[in-house]
Amino acid sequence: MNNTGVEKKRVLSLLQPTGVFTLGNYIGALRNFVPYQAEYECVFGIADLHSITVRQEPAALRKAILECYAMGMAAGIDPKRSAFFLQSHLSEHSQLAWILNCYTQFGELSRMTQFKDKSVKNPENINAGLFTYPCLMAADILLYQANYVPIGSDQNQHIEISRDIAERFNGAYSPTFVIPEGIIQKFGNRVMSLQDPTKKMSKSDTNKNAVVLMLDTKDEIVKKFKRAVTDSEARVFYGEGKDGINNLMEIYLCVTGKSFEEIEREFEGKGYGDFKEAVGEAVFAALEPIQSEYYRLIADKAYLEECYREGAERARPMARKTLSKVMKKIGFI
Ligand code: AMP
Repeated sequence: MNNTGVEKKRVLSLLQPTGVFTLGNYIGALRNFVPYQAEYECVFGIADLHSITVRQEPAALRKAILECYAMGMAAGIDPKRSAFFLQSHLSEHSQLAWILNCYTQFGELSRMTQFKDKSVKNPENINAGLFTYPCLMAADILLYQANYVPIGSDQNQHIEISRDIAERFNGAYSPTFVIPEGIIQKFGNRVMSLQDPTKKMSKSDTNKNAVVLMLDTKDEIVKKFKRAVTDSEARVFYGEGKDGINNLMEIYLCVTGKSFEEIEREFEGKGYGDFKEAVGEAVFAALEPIQSEYYRLIADKAYLEECYREGAERARPMARKTLSKVMKKIGFI
């Protein structure tokens, strides 16, 4: 409930423990956590079960899970306010995922572009988990009766399949699951590569200058922005055929809160060099407090453990309630 006595809507977001956080992750996902917590009841988690669709080295996975948890907190997730847990600590996710597997068609899973992409990338390990991961993802969302799930501009298919599964189950029995909706933010839902602004900024890019990492130093960040690919027009404005500048302007808008018009005015009569430097500085200014908090948290494993254990205890009653409703409706004793 909020202070007007109206039930708050619930937002859910799970983070993949990949061990590398890019500026794309920050602008496209993490920076919204603070405003979400102000407006919604939030459920956040580390999607560690999802990470094993590709083979993981145990020590590296353990480290990546903790780093991801610490980064979530550093970016503003308040574990006293939101349920923030490790997905594998709640067996309800796997239990509901199995059930939802049986309400999902082979054909619809075959059409998922992520399955097709990952199968091409990992031809030696096209495992069943890779194929059925949308059922686990649907379970993550539906277990908590989430109203909203923040998604990137290319993740619509993920939320669509969760909605289809929920509607199918509700139709077969009676209303059981809230039908979730995706939230796509207006700006910053697709931060592009600094070296090829027609491509999304991605942690797997082999060109290190294309990707800004959340833990890069000021020097690294400013250098990467200085080397960013732009055009030869040398005038800062948002327009067609200016992919590089458009991307830098959108990044600047997201980290400073300025509008495109304000940015154009600020850099009127100035060259790209000044603009790129300003973007680099502004990005570092946004990341610096997160970096300090991250390093403080990652050094305090005992506190992190206290937080994720408490997070699981907060999440469990919500997950149990949904799962037991589902099991009863199906006819399990
Ligand atoms: P990933 O690390 O690719 O699993 O993405 C985690 C979250 O960060 C998702 O919500 C993505 O939409 C978001 N994200 C990742 N890369 C970008 C990007 N280049 N631009 C905007 N959002 C991104």
